[in-house]
Amino acid sequence: MTTFDRFPADRDGPRDECGVFGVYAPGHDVSRLAYFALYALQHRGQESAGIATCEGGHITTLRDAGLVSQVFDEEKLRALEGDMAIGHVRYSTTGGGSWENAQPVWRDDGREVALAHNGNLTNAVELWGELKERGIDFRGTSDSEIIAALLSSHEGKLIEDAVEQVMPRLEGAYSTVVMTKHAIVAFRDPHGIRPLSLGRLGERFVVASESCAFDIIGAELMREVHPGELVSLTERGLETRQVVRGSRHASCVFEHIYFSRPDSRMEGMVLQEARGRMGEILWREAPVEADLVISVPDSGNPAAAGFARASGLPRDDGLIKNRYVARTFIQPGQELRKHGLRLKFNPLPEIVAGKRLVVVDDSIVRGNTTRQIVGMLRDAGAREVHLRISAPPIRNPCHYGVDMSTREEMVAHGRTIAEIADELDADSLAYLSMEGVYEAIGGSPEDHCDACFSGRYPLGDPEEANGKFALEDIAVIPAS
Ligand code: SF4
Repeated sequence: MTTFDRFPADRDGPRDECGVFGVYAPGHDVSRLAYFALYALQHRGQESAGIATCEGGHITTLRDAGLVSQVFDEEKLRALEGDMAIGHVRYSTTGGGSWENAQPVWRDDGREVALAHNGNLTNAVELWGELKERGIDFRGTSDSEIIAALLSSHEGKLIEDAVEQVMPRLEGAYSTVVMTKHAIVAFRDPHGIRPLSLGRLGERFVVASESCAFDIIGAELMREVHPGELVSLTERGLETRQVVRGSRHASCVFEHIYFSRPDSRMEGMVLQEARGRMGEILWREAPVEADLVISVPDSGNPAAAGFARASGLPRDDGLIKNRYVARTFIQPGQELRKHGLRLKFNPLPEIVAGKRLVVVDDSIVRGNTTRQIVGMLRDAGAREVHLRISAPPIRNPCHYGVDMSTREEMVAHGRTIAEIADELDADSLAYLSMEGVYEAIGGSPEDHCDACFSGRYPLGDPEEANGKFALEDIAVIPAS
């Protein structure tokens, strides 16, 4: 099986999960709309991209490994005509990074469907076994194909009925968009773990993981798809059903801190603003005597701006980021490897030399990148390096669709804050409190998931959840 490892200088933070999109818009160039929406969602997954369209009752799917701009060109988009389209960008959270697991998934077990999914089912192994017993075979090893198979083989006349009956069987996180010959149906798990928004494009409707996908195609954000809700986009317009009511909401708090784009709107707020507030509160909670605030670009920028605003300290760009470095699959090789992180970040001695620096970042997982950044800044002449992180320490893995490394790999695992500071060679280190995060987003722990920080898993015992490669342990993967 081929996997697509990104080279080691890449950020060692949590890996984004996936991005989904759907549009029902006869008369529009739907494949081009899907292409640009996926382009806006590229930060949610860089391993593979795909678009499926439906024209005259015929579904065509095109997907491949690589970035949206690598997978599609004019000719391929022209071959994807239709009245409706769905799209997907992927970083594998379940199943390896193989081509078979690229999405949209296409299946025809009675009803032809194409499906795009963001999340992670925690009962995938059980459902897989059940479908195998019914004689249903799988091409890949992703939990998304299980949802597709359940919907494709369901006997309900309408896809909406099939979704309504399948949803209660699914456990875990799923923001899903499915296309049949007649409709696009989007549905979100009853806890609303991963995001999903609904928008309007003229007289037609669109759905996407984040509202930044609407901005790029001229659509307007209407609202988020409610947890446990199904929305159906057809010739009749927009119809919705609240399939599951009254569950504990548990939307991912990390979407607010890091995953989603800062220009996306979530829970009534643009994320740039919420992240700026995190920086302001971080100063209130952990002030420090310093000369200059710098960020770890780009994800640390909004919190660094907030920290500088609240502290009155000047802010400058002490680290310059090569924006394209994460987009190569070429390994740096021995000669370049010793330059390590300079492939990604380059410090500016003219800005940092002789200064007591506050370095603001959004999160630390394993700490390798942070340690190297501290070292580079010291080499560039920084007098002191004070780390300020706009999230609490990450000490637990995610079971709901985000790759966080194992507990043992996390730098905060089994260490006090002082020990982590030592490990990272920082003069001081402070994290934003959990209360600070909720104050910044105007939310509460009762309706969010913060398990990777707190260890409180909103859907029960994580040890019973399936691991990333759970299906690969039991599935026989046919040669492609
Ligand atoms: S464990 Fe962390 S990353 Fe995973 S859903 Fe919960 S808050 Fe989000």
